[in-house]
Amino acid sequence: MKLKILAPLALLLTLVASRAADRPNIVFIFSDDHAWQAISAYGSNRNETPHIDRLADEGMRFDRCLVPNSICGPSRATVLTGTYNHINGFIDNSGCRFDGSQTTFPKLLQGAGYQTAIIGKWHLGSEPTGFDHWQVLPGQGQYYNPKMILNGENMREMGYVTDIITERSLDWLKKRDPERPFLLMCQHKAPHRNWSPNVTKLNHDGGKPYPEPPTLFDDYSGRGSGEKNQDMSLAKTMHEGDLKLKTTSAIPKSVRDEWNAYYGPRNEAFLKANLKGKDLIRWKYQRYMHDYLACISSVDDGIGEILDYLKESGLEENTIVVYASDQGFYLGEHGWFDKRWIFEESLRTPFLVRWPSVIKPASVSKEIVSNLDFAPTLLEAAGVSVPERVQGHSLMPLFKGQTPDEWRKSFYYHYYEFPGVHSVPRHYGVATDRYKLVHLYKPDDYWELFDLEKDPHEMKNVFDDPEYASARRTLEKELARLRDELKVPEKDPKGTRK
Ligand code: CA
Repeated sequence: MKLKILAPLALLLTLVASRAADRPNIVFIFSDDHAWQAISAYGSNRNETPHIDRLADEGMRFDRCLVPNSICGPSRATVLTGTYNHINGFIDNSGCRFDGSQTTFPKLLQGAGYQTAIIGKWHLGSEPTGFDHWQVLPGQGQYYNPKMILNGENMREMGYVTDIITERSLDWLKKRDPERPFLLMCQHKAPHRNWSPNVTKLNHDGGKPYPEPPTLFDDYSGRGSGEKNQDMSLAKTMHEGDLKLKTTSAIPKSVRDEWNAYYGPRNEAFLKANLKGKDLIRWKYQRYMHDYLACISSVDDGIGEILDYLKESGLEENTIVVYASDQGFYLGEHGWFDKRWIFEESLRTPFLVRWPSVIKPASVSKEIVSNLDFAPTLLEAAGVSVPERVQGHSLMPLFKGQTPDEWRKSFYYHYYEFPGVHSVPRHYGVATDRYKLVHLYKPDDYWELFDLEKDPHEMKNVFDDPEYASARRTLEKELARLRDELKVPEKDPKGTRK
């Protein structure tokens, strides 16, 4: 009698166990401010990223992954929840605190039996929730000898932050329970401002000059007051510390000799040359690229180490590896660094996925996808149901090379941080494959329309051009439809403050 009851139960348990064994592992590698223009798989003319390129060669490269709000904290809140910032409460970086009691995809995976860990940058104010193991940088974190918080305890690691985050990620992978699937979020601080390279990378480019973007000397004519009055230009905003013209206490004594041996003579030559105007901007651009791309080289090395480990340990086939940044970044385009704008350099983020058992090698998707889609995709891949609240869509059909007819053709964007650092106006808008319609509403109230087909660098506002009257009407309707569908409040939300 007992056996009769137990047999179906045993069968069920076996089925559950076999299904659990089939569930994919997830390695989510994330960086901070990595421009897609600085990845060779995306056609960079400035650097090589051989290990990120492996993900493109062996998996899928997404060419139009858009973020709903191009700034650190809000983007991370979107990744975790699959929602816009007016829903998850983290609208800007000026004092918001992530409400860790809300549903996130790591929490749901943890509940479904996944081992979960996050190592590296968190930057959401509150403590991480939904992770069995967490070791994060407090706030922005430091490049050298960083303070960290290990499962709630303050501690310090010695060395270069990118290498530490890679090593601790590998340590966790090696000691995990091999019987259960896992989610590892490996989140780099690099290449965030002020772009401090590892001293081992100071000669990474052999002193070769970098090509300048065509809009390095943009004068912002043809656009409104916001573009003219921003505070994120190489000309005005980039300071001595950014440019390594002075050595700060953030560079520890242990590496200071090597640091000064590289920068010292170059800085002397720069001061002697007494550059002005465009020549000064050109010099700043070269120094910026040297430092920023050196930071990326360390990130790329770390990705190589993780990919090698997955291969050696037989995990490659059934592990989803994601690489993305929290947003894009300006590498001198429009004369800028930083992010925040709806324009292509900051709206788009790199996004590559390798999953050998599902995705064909060297696939490319041109569809509009978003970091809103990460949570529902990874949940569906793990066989976990997606909560109603999620506003993104699972990318599983796209992984299989099938785009559903109803896939999004337009995308809603909303940036809230004004007044704030870099003085970028509050704005919202809609992006399609060809157009962008933008309402800038604080401090000044005006509209812009860009035709990316004729004006790929977004230099000319055609909002009042009668030739675009019909396109404008269509976009205005689409913008209203999206705001309604996404439940965007009429007035700016306050956000979840500290
Ligand atoms: Ca960022």
